[in-house]
Amino acid sequence: MEELNLKCPTCHVDVRQTDFFCYNCGKKLKSKPLSTSITTQALIYLGSFLLPPMGIIWGIKYLRQENSQSKIVGMIAILLTIISLILTIIFTINFVNSLNSQINSQLQNFGGL
Ligand SMILES: [Zn+2]
Repeated sequence: MEELNLKCPTCHVDVRQTDFFCYNCGKKLKSKPLSTSITTQALIYLGSFLLPPMGIIWGIKYLRQENSQSKIVGMIAILLTIISLILTIIFTINFVNSLNSQINSQLQNFGGL
């Protein structure tokens, strides 16, 4: 993270880069980062895996955050979404295949009669 001497755009008092609000005039300096608590992470990872399209949305939201912790959360969320999608596709293909072979063997049984 770069160490810049920031100034409040409204009252021009020096503010720290870590400040979300100006301590002098209360002006919002930047939006609060998304939570990266263990609970939030667990919910995001679980949600990404169980609700694939949501994982992409959350992942992008977290990737857009400035701190690296959030970016990691975003990347994991997107990765889990992709894994979940791949697993869903594999299971679907396997299911369709087993269904097909069942139907085929049934048809062959009927044909034998
Ligand atoms: Zn200010």
